[in-house]
Amino acid sequence: MQSYKDYLDCCYQCGAFLATVGYTVKGREIKMLTKGIGEAKTLIVGGVHAREHITCDLLLALTAAYEGRNAIDVIPALNLDGILLTKLGLNGIPLTLRERNLLLAANNGDTDFSLWKANIRAVDINNNFDAGWGEGKGNVFAPAPHGYVGTHPHSEPETVAAVKLMDSRKYSLVIAYHSKGEEVYWGFRNKKPYKKEATRIADALGYPLKETPESAGGLKDYWIQKTGRLGLTVEVGEDRFPHPYPVSELPNLVARHKDIFRLSGEIATELWNKDL
Ligand SMILES: [Zn+2]
Repeated sequence: MQSYKDYLDCCYQCGAFLATVGYTVKGREIKMLTKGIGEAKTLIVGGVHAREHITCDLLLALTAAYEGRNAIDVIPALNLDGILLTKLGLNGIPLTLRERNLLLAANNGDTDFSLWKANIRAVDINNNFDAGWGEGKGNVFAPAPHGYVGTHPHSEPETVAAVKLMDSRKYSLVIAYHSKGEEVYWGFRNKKPYKKEATRIADALGYPLKETPESAGGLKDYWIQKTGRLGLTVEVGEDRFPHPYPVSELPNLVARHKDIFRLSGEIATELWNKDL
């Protein structure tokens, strides 16, 4: 997707039920796409980090192709403002002078934002969740291209949109899509639930399952800490490619991930029945 309109068009073309689950700092709609029958037990979130926008394209393609029974909720782009900044640059998106100055200062005066990860207020969404907030490796405490935790947990509307869903819906499985490295991260600190199920997903992708002892403030961290249920971060894409991940590689990613919605839906339903 190349613009906000393009993103909305792609969402509408997925053949999914569409809901607006929040708004970005700039008031853009955070869309959730639902496919399948009944209430979704799985939430899949992409586009958390701006430069990892290949995950947005991937989740849109996977949603369009999904024909399974088990319902899946998909947020293709949580950090839409940041994504459009990395794609279109400072002059390609509407900004106030104050926003522009903050972004330039956070980026050390550099007008190249192609490697930016944060949102439009220079907060790293994946360090803004209330789970060991501010205690993560690489956390910083001032606006930055990545790692800035924000003024307090859930200070950003994008974080709040994800939290509201995780707090109110009855998911058994939450997966955050990032790029890159071909790994699946599982567990938060001493909470390491459902290793067998996590391994099934990692094996299906051909990615190793790894723990992240130094992670804090992330979406999966929050989910696991809050619920004790299965939460994963999936890092898509090979390390030999640069950031942002080349769009020409999208068909290869789609091929590798084509079965993941079905498997996730099955596992989430199994876990749901187990938890009853
Ligand atoms: Zn990421």
